[in-house]
Amino acid sequence: MSSQPPAPDYRAMLQVAIDEARAGLAEGGIPIGAALFRADGTLLGRGRNRRVQEGDPSVHGETDAFRKAGRQRSYRDTIMVTTLSPCWYCSGLVRQFGIGTVVMGESVNFSGGHDWLRAHGVRVVDLADPGCIAMLGDWIARNPGVWNEDIGVD
Ligand SMILES: [Zn+2]
Repeated sequence: MSSQPPAPDYRAMLQVAIDEARAGLAEGGIPIGAALFRADGTLLGRGRNRRVQEGDPSVHGETDAFRKAGRQRSYRDTIMVTTLSPCWYCSGLVRQFGIGTVVMGESVNFSGGHDWLRAHGVRVVDLADPGCIAMLGDWIARNPGVWNEDIGVD
């Protein structure tokens, strides 16, 4: 018997982010979702990229989930789960608030700041989820212009 608490179920957490991404897809948006959890698995907030829906380039999955989580006294033990490697903007958010762990669905369609986060002591887990890779990959193939706008490529 170990006195350690059970490891968080990252796959179950990712499913919340995937559900958000799918909701975004159904709205005509970019299918990227995220959720912020406590280490014990309590969901604090969930959200999705709403650049297209809201006409607001600052609403990424991670920032949406973060805002919906409201004020937290500390983020050290929180887990940011996202369907995609976090961009620089969202990686900055993770460092600014000291979020301890980032779990990403994939880093194939886009590789953001996760190596930089790792180098600064953030625990980063890449689940390399085939469903996440296919969902966004298919969308990018159909919407290259919006995608390049989202990642800041002219
Ligand atoms: Zn982002």
